[in-house]
Order: sequence, then structure tokens, then C-alpha cells
Amino acid sequence: MNIAVVGAGAAGLFLSRLLSETKNCNIHIYERTGKPGYKVKASGGGKANILNTHISGECYNNAAFIANLLSRVNYQTIRDEFEKMGLKMSVDEENRVYPSTFFSQTVLDVLLNDLSDRVQFHYNTEVQQISSKGRHYYINEEATAFDTVVLASGSPAGMIAKNRKHFDRYLTDFKLQRKDFQASLVGFKLEDYPIFLSGCRCKAICSLYQKGKLIYQENGEVTFKDDGVSGIVILNLSAYYNRLKDKRNCSIGFNFMYDDPDYDVDEHLRKHHNLCGLLHPKLNRLYERKQCNIKDLRFKIKDTYELEFAQVCTGGIAVEEINDDFELKKYPNIYAIGEMIDIDGICGGYNLFFAWASAYLCAQSIIHSCVPSARGVLP
Ligand SMILES: Cc1cc2nc3c(=O)[nH]c(=O)nc-3n(C[C@H](O)[C@H](O)[C@H](O)COP(=O)(O)OP(=O)(O)OC[C@H]3O[C@@H](n4cnc5c(N)ncnc54)[C@H](O)[C@@H]3O)c2cc1C
Repeated sequence: MNIAVVGAGAAGLFLSRLLSETKNCNIHIYERTGKPGYKVKASGGGKANILNTHISGECYNNAAFIANLLSRVNYQTIRDEFEKMGLKMSVDEENRVYPSTFFSQTVLDVLLNDLSDRVQFHYNTEVQQISSKGRHYYINEEATAFDTVVLASGSPAGMIAKNRKHFDRYLTDFKLQRKDFQASLVGFKLEDYPIFLSGCRCKAICSLYQKGKLIYQENGEVTFKDDGVSGIVILNLSAYYNRLKDKRNCSIGFNFMYDDPDYDVDEHLRKHHNLCGLLHPKLNRLYERKQCNIKDLRFKIKDTYELEFAQVCTGGIAVEEINDDFELKKYPNIYAIGEMIDIDGICGGYNLFFAWASAYLCAQSIIHSCVPSARGVLP
């Protein structure tokens, strides 16, 4: 069986690795760049936070879809597969799973181990067109006839503008319901923001509000930049922000008494006449100038940072277009997996879990389906 995989990212590589164990699978991976798995390498700040031991639907934009997926593949399933491949893993106190080396290249090394002997890589080859003739598919009008095609081309998150132009133009031939990609897991640009806060790193309870109503709250470290704010907590706030249909009148509130919200700041002021012992020096400077409420310092959100600064995108192929095995309902033997599907999660290994899990279910389906279907074909 000839199988084409579009994209040597997390999902494409995991799938190919699983399929390569099956004797009669002849796999070709098409990758537009010169290297495999560049996002896996960048993930977790170079440590690769590959999984989370507590995966649940609530951590994603579509809880029902993930709940259904979890009934067939869960954290342990994926962990077992990685262990079979020889990856040793460690779990931190926040249930995040890393390779025990805490080095992302280890994950790639394990995925790629011996793979080039069993799989044909086509690097620097952008898939621009997929056509069909009879029950076979053809990539970029090349001669090889494929029985199955797996689309795993990801999203433009983290890509600079010139690279993301037309990166998934091959999909325009498909009649699929798709949502435009938008940056998620990304920092915010803030209004009326004092530039001198740039470089301040501190902990805070961070809250996302819309028209004063609390949407989401999380406690953790934030990094103030030249025109806005970033950090894992902020990226998680952005996931909830992106799910809002109307993004007007949104603000972020910071409570810098993150470990003692009941602390009596007024009493502290009466005793010490300043807050320099409570706040990062840059925040103290802000307080001295504006006498702001350090338990509820609010900034209006101007926008999120651009796509190249995002870890993940919202949007992509609508889940209604795929069946439980990630096969496209309208196109038999074409599957779509990973971030190109309209599923996105918060920080903590959830997005890579989805890439691995969708690849796993797709691989199971390909391995079990040897009878070519007689359903419709591409135009
Ligand atoms: C900086 C950063 C840090 C991250 N950290 C984490 C983390 O710690 N934990 C976590 O869970 N998630 C993290 N993520 C998100 C995670 O990396 C992605 O969700 C995941 O890699 C998606 O996998 P994928 O295979 O679907 O897509 P990708 O990894 O994007 O792979 C898609 C591949 O397809 C190729 N491609 C695209 N179009 C074509 C085409 N037309 N023809 C041929 N090839 C094509 C691309 O070049 C790419 O190699 C991070 C992302 C970034 C950017």
C-alpha cells in the first residue's frame, strides 16, 4: 500500500513511525522545509513538553470532540508507544511530561531512529496539489500512485509572514469547511501601557475580563514586554480570548499578591509608607506614579501578538469534515491529523498530545483498512 504523508511535523512523523512497523506500508513523507519536526524541537522552550498526564476535554476548544477521542486513545496509550520506541520520560509537579533528558532533540531522535531506512523522505518539497485518478491519488502530478494520503501540514503558528504565504494552498482543491487560522497561545498587546515595565518578570493572578465579567483566571509567571505581556499564564488566557466571538472590551487584570490575596496592602502602606518590599521594582515605579490597585491592575487588550509569536493556531479543518479515525468524510482514504484540524488546547503538552493521538487513531485505521473504498473522488 502506497501512503503519502504531507508534513514531517509531530503528527506526520509519529504516524509514519507507527505505520513503518507494518510490512506492506510504503510511506513517502513530503516536507516543504529541509528538516523534520522543527516545532517539536522548539516546543517547551527546547525541553519538549510532549504530553500531560491529566488530559481532559476542558483543556481544548472543543470539549465534546476530545472527550470522544479520549474514549479511544489517552495519555497512557501515547506514553506506551513512546516507551516502545525507547523514550524515557519524566513528569513535573504540574503533570507535564518531558523526555527525561529535558531536551527536545531526544524526541526527534527517537521518532526518526531508523525511519529513513523504512520511509522515503522528500525534503524541500511543498505539496501544492493533490489530484485523483480512479481510486489513486497523485502528489504534485508526480508518477507515484498513492492508495492513501495523510494531510499533516499543521498551522502557520510560529511562522514568519513570507513562509506562511500559501503554505496550505493545496487544500483549495478540497471542498472542506475550514475556519481561518488565528494566533492562539500568544501574548497580548495592551493599551495605555507604560514601556518602562518592559523586562519585568513576576508572578501574578491573571484574569481575562470582557465588559468587566471574568472569563478565565490563572496564577503564574508573567513577562512584561515593550508593548504588552507574555508568559505561559498569558498564553492560556489568549486561548480563552480567541474563543470569544466578539473580542471587544476585553482586559487583563493582575493581582500581584498572588500567594496571599488577602494581604492587607493598605496596612502595609500605613506601616512602611511604600510598596517596595512587595513589588518588583518596575511595578513599584508604576505604583509610585499612578497609585494603582496592585491587587487589580487592569489593562485593556489592544490585540494579540502576530502569528509568528504564537505557539498554536485556532482554526483549520472543521471537525464535522472528519470521521472518528480522522478520515475526511468527503474524500475516501484521505486523512487529516494534527493542528490543521480545528482543535487547539492550552499550554502544558495538550497540543502535542492531540498531534500524537490523531496520528495514532489514523495509523490504526490505515493498518486495519486494506480494502479500498468505492466512495467519491477529488474533482
Ligand atoms: C515555539 C513553540 C513551542 C511549542 N511548545 C509546545 C509544547 O511545549 N507542548 C505542546 O504540546 N505543544 C507545543 N507547541 C505546539 C506544537 O508544537 C504543535 O501543536 C504541533 O507541533 C503540531 O503538530 P503538527 O504535526 O500538526 O504540525 P507541525 O508540527 O506544524 O508540522 C507540519 C509540517 O508540515 C509541513 N508542511 C506544511 N505545509 C506543507 C506542504 N504544503 N507541503 C509539505 N509540507 C508542508 C511544515 O513545514 C511542518 O514541518 C509549540 C509550538 C511552538 C511554535
